[in-house]
Amino acid sequence: MLGGKIPRSRLFWSAAAILLVALAVGVFLALRAGAPTTPASVAFSEFLNDVQNSRVSRVTIAAETLAFERTDGTRAQTLAPQGYVASNPTFVTSLTERGIRLDVSKAEPSRAGSYGAFAVGLLFFGLVSLVLFRAITGRVPTLEKARTIDPQAVTVTFADVAGVDEAKDEVREIVDFLKEPARFASIGGRIPRGILLVGPPGTGKTLLARSMAGEAGVPFISASGSDFVEMYAGVGASRVRRLFRDARRHKSCIVFIDELDAVGRNRGGNSLSHEEREQTLNQLLVEMDGFTQSDSVVIVAATNRQDILDPALLRPGRFDRQVVVGNPDLNGREQILRVHARKVALEPDVDLRATARGTPGFSGADLANLVNEAALIAARAGRSTVGAKDLDAARDKVLMGVERRSVAMSEQERITCAYHEAGHAVVAALLPDADPLHKVTIIPRGRALGVTMQLPEADRYTHSKPFIEAQIAILMGGRVAEELFLRQMTSGASNDIERATELARKMVCELGMSPLGPLHFRRPSGAWDGDTRAAGFSEETARRVDEEIRNLVMRGYETARQIIERQRAAIVALAEELLAEESVEADRLKEILAASVTPVVQVSRT
Ligand code: ADP
Ligand code: MG
Ligand code: ZN
Repeated sequence: MLGGKIPRSRLFWSAAAILLVALAVGVFLALRAGAPTTPASVAFSEFLNDVQNSRVSRVTIAAETLAFERTDGTRAQTLAPQGYVASNPTFVTSLTERGIRLDVSKAEPSRAGSYGAFAVGLLFFGLVSLVLFRAITGRVPTLEKARTIDPQAVTVTFADVAGVDEAKDEVREIVDFLKEPARFASIGGRIPRGILLVGPPGTGKTLLARSMAGEAGVPFISASGSDFVEMYAGVGASRVRRLFRDARRHKSCIVFIDELDAVGRNRGGNSLSHEEREQTLNQLLVEMDGFTQSDSVVIVAATNRQDILDPALLRPGRFDRQVVVGNPDLNGREQILRVHARKVALEPDVDLRATARGTPGFSGADLANLVNEAALIAARAGRSTVGAKDLDAARDKVLMGVERRSVAMSEQERITCAYHEAGHAVVAALLPDADPLHKVTIIPRGRALGVTMQLPEADRYTHSKPFIEAQIAILMGGRVAEELFLRQMTSGASNDIERATELARKMVCELGMSPLGPLHFRRPSGAWDGDTRAAGFSEETARRVDEEIRNLVMRGYETARQIIERQRAAIVALAEELLAEESVEADRLKEILAASVTPVVQVSRT
C-alpha cells in the first residue's frame, strides 16, 4: 500500500457491510411483526375456557405446547403445565368428546420455522463475512481474470507473424533485452518498459505480443482491458493489482493488456462508470511506475484507438514506445498466406501471389480466415487438397459474407434486387474513375440481399476526389434503377444512402474537397464522452456544411441517373442474367456490357 489513505474500494465495501447488516435487522423485525406462522400466545386458562364454551375446533399437541384453532377461524397457542397432558388421560378424551379434532406432533410446531430462520441467518452471516473480508483485505475471494501462460506453452515465434516486418524489427530489441537483461544493464541502456501496439483489428497485435514471449522464452501473462471495466467500484483496480502481482512472481515476463482503450480512455467526462475507470487507470499507472530498472518485466498493450488514450499513459516510463501494426501490403499478404497455407495441402494450380493481389485491404486475420475457409470448402467437396477455385470461393465468402440461400425472396423482391444491383454495376462499369467490377450477385449474403463488388487493381492508400465522387454515384445507382425501371422506392437502398451521405460528409468536413475549402469541420456532437472541445464552427458554417453534403450526394444521384437513362439496354440485359443465374462474374459482366452498352457515353458533371 502507498501511504495511509484508505482506498476508496475499502470504504465502499465497509459501507456495503453496514448496509447488509441493517437490511438483515430490518427483515428480522418485519418478520416478527407480521409473521402469520406464529400464532398469538394465550394463557392456559383462556384455552380451557375456550374449550369449555365449545369455541375450539382443532388442537395440535406438541409436548407441552398446544396450538389450537377456534371455530371462528382464529389461531392461538398456549403452554400447558409440565406433564399436564401425560398425567391427565381424561384431557384427551374430553377434547375428542366435544368433537375437537386432535393432532399430535412430535416436535414443537415453532421448530420448523426456527430451522428456516437459522438457515437464513447462516446465509446472512456468510454474506456479511464475505463483504467484511473485502472491506478489510481489499481482495475478492474468487478467481480473477488474468491468464498466465508458461513459457513452454507459448509456441508462437516471429516465424508465425508475417507481413509486419517493421513492427517486428521494433520489438526485436525488447526480445533481446528479455533474453539477456544483464548485458543491457551493463551497457546502461534504458529499455522501454511499456510498448503500445497500435493498429486496426485483426492485424496481428495479439499474435505479435505472444510471439515476443515465445522468442524470448518468458512467461506470457495476459488480460484484456475490458476485464478491468466492471460495474463495481474497486474490482477493476484490484484486478490490475492482481495481474501485476502475478507478473512480479516471475524473474522476467511479458504482461499483455489487450484493448487498452477500454481502461485507458481520456479522463474527464461524467459517465456513470467514470469513477471506477479512473480508479482502475490510476492503479495501472501506479503499477507501471512501480517497476525498477532491474526488473525484467515488459508490458505490452494493444489498441486500435490511440487517439482516445489518456495522455498520462503515453508519458516516459509508461507506454513510451508505440509500434504501428498496419494492414499488410501485397508482399505482406503473400507472406501471411504462406504462413497459414503451411497447414494445408495445396494443389499445383494455386498461386498465392495472385490471391494476395486479389485481396487488397484484407487484414492478417481475414487472410487466415480465407485459407481456413478454402480448406473447409475443399473438405466439404470430399477433396484432401485445396485448389485455386477453393481460394477464390473463400475470398468471396470472407469479402461478402456467407451466402444465405435459406432467405426466401419473393419473385417481386428478386426482380427489385436484380435491377437494383444492375444499377450499381452499370454505373460502376461506365465511370472511368471507379474500381473494376469483380462480381454481382442477388444471393443474400450477411445482411444484404444482393451485392455488387468491385476490387481495386492495386493497393490504395489514398483516394482521389473523382474516385470518391464515382463511389457516391455508384451507391445511388441502385435506387435510380429501381425508380426508372420499376417506378418504386424500397428500403433496400437505405444502406447505400447512408454510405453515400457519409462519404459526402467526409469530403466536406475532413478532406477539404468542397467549396468550403481545406478545413476540418468537427462533428458538433456524438463524440466520445470527455471530449470537451467545442464544434468549432458557427451556425452559418454548419448550414453551409449541410448544403455542400447535400450537393455532393445529389450530384452523384444525377450522374447515376444520366448513365442509367442512356444504358437502359445494359441494365435490362444484366438484370435478366442475374435473375437467371443469380451471380455474374467479372468476365461474363464484360461480355454482357460490351454487347449492350450504348457506345457514346457523355456524362455531364453539372
Ligand atoms: P489483433 O490482435 O491485431 O486484432 P490477432 O493477433 O488477434 O489480431 O490476429 C488474429 C489471427 O489472425 C491470428 O491468430 C493469426 O492467425 C492471424 N494473423 C493476423 N495477423 C497476422 C500476421 N501478421 N501474420 C500471420 N497471421 C496473422
Ligand atoms: Mg487482439
Ligand atoms: Zn444497393
